[in-house]
Amino acid sequence: MSIEFLKETFIGLVAVDSPYGFEEPMIRHFKEALAPYVDEVQETPRGNVVGVQRGKDPKAPKVALAAHMDQVGFTVFNIDERGFIRFRKVGGASNRAILGQRVRLATEKGSVPGVVGIKPGHVTPPSEANTIPPIEEMYIDVGAWSRDEVEGMGVKVGTPIVFDAEPRELANDLITSPAVDDKAGLTVLIAVAKALKDEEIPATVYYIGTVEEEGGLRGAAVALHDLDVDAAVAVDTAPSGWQPDINMRDMVYEVGRGPAIHIGEMGRRGSWIYHSRLREWLIETAEAEGLPYQSGYQLGGTDASAMAQTRGGIPATTVGVPRRYSHSPVETFDLKDMSGLVEILVASLRKLKPGFRLLRS
Ligand SMILES: [Zn+2]
Repeated sequence: MSIEFLKETFIGLVAVDSPYGFEEPMIRHFKEALAPYVDEVQETPRGNVVGVQRGKDPKAPKVALAAHMDQVGFTVFNIDERGFIRFRKVGGASNRAILGQRVRLATEKGSVPGVVGIKPGHVTPPSEANTIPPIEEMYIDVGAWSRDEVEGMGVKVGTPIVFDAEPRELANDLITSPAVDDKAGLTVLIAVAKALKDEEIPATVYYIGTVEEEGGLRGAAVALHDLDVDAAVAVDTAPSGWQPDINMRDMVYEVGRGPAIHIGEMGRRGSWIYHSRLREWLIETAEAEGLPYQSGYQLGGTDASAMAQTRGGIPATTVGVPRRYSHSPVETFDLKDMSGLVEILVASLRKLKPGFRLLRS
C-alpha cells in the first residue's frame, strides 16, 4: 500500500475530532471513507460502523477487523464567571501531557481554540515546581472575559475537547500527531478494504469502527452480536519503547521494527492470551511473505477482549502499529510499520479458504 495513501488517509482522520463518547463526526467520516471500498456500510443505533465485503465462497470463514473510532480527550465540566473553563478527561490522556497545551473545543458553531493554562514559574513554590496538578485544578483559557462570552462562542457544559496539534512528519517516515490511537487502526482498515476491493477473495470481511473503546471497550462488546462472524482481529496501536525514559526490561516493541502481532495483553485487569490459531495464521503469513513483524505482549486492553466474549465466544486477537508517547499530543509512529501491517492483513485474508481450522487443539 502506498505510503502517500496511508499518510493522506491518516491526516484526514486526525482532522475529525472524536473523543470518547463524542464519536458522531467520526461515525459520519468513517462511513464515507469506507463506502467506496465495501459492498455495504451501515451505522448501528449504538454508533458502531459496519462495512462488509462479501466473499465469493459462503463456506469460507467470515472475519471482522475492528478499530476504535474514539480518541482520548476531554469535556467541559463547568465555566467560571471570568470565562475560565474547568474540564475533565474522557479516556486516559496522560496528565503530564496536558498543562500548557493547545486544545480545541468542538462546538455546534465550529471549533474554538483554547490553551490549558499554566502557573508562572515566578509564583510557583519549589514544593509545586516538579509536580503535576490534578485535572480538577487545570483550566482552559479561550480568551474570553466572562462566562456569557464563552457561552456565546458555543461552548457549554459537555462540549468535547481534543488536543490541538497538527500531524507532522519527522525523519525516516515517522509521523507525530495526537490520536494516532486509533486513527492509525482506522487507516489500516480503509487501506485493507481498498486493497481487496476488486479481488473477490473467498472470505467475507467485516470492517468495523467501534465506539467508546477508551473508557472500557464498550462499543466492541456489542459490535459482533448480530453479525455472523467466525473470528475477529482488533487493529490498534501498541505502546512501544526504546526511548531514553523507558527501560527495555519493561517493554517489548520498538517503532520501525515492523507491526506487532501480539501473543496476548497485560494490563491492570490482568493478562489474557489471544487465540493461538489466529496468531499462527498471521505469523505464518508474515513469514511466508517475508514481511517484518514483532511479537510480544500488548500493554493494556484492546477491543479483542470484548469481542471474544460475544455470544458463545469468538476467536479474537489484536495486531498493532507500534507508537511512542501514548495518549499525548505527540504520539509517534512509523508509516512503514503501518504499511507492513496492511500487507500482512491483506495476505492473511487472501489465504482464508473453506476448512480453515479455528479449533485450538
Ligand atoms: Zn487504542
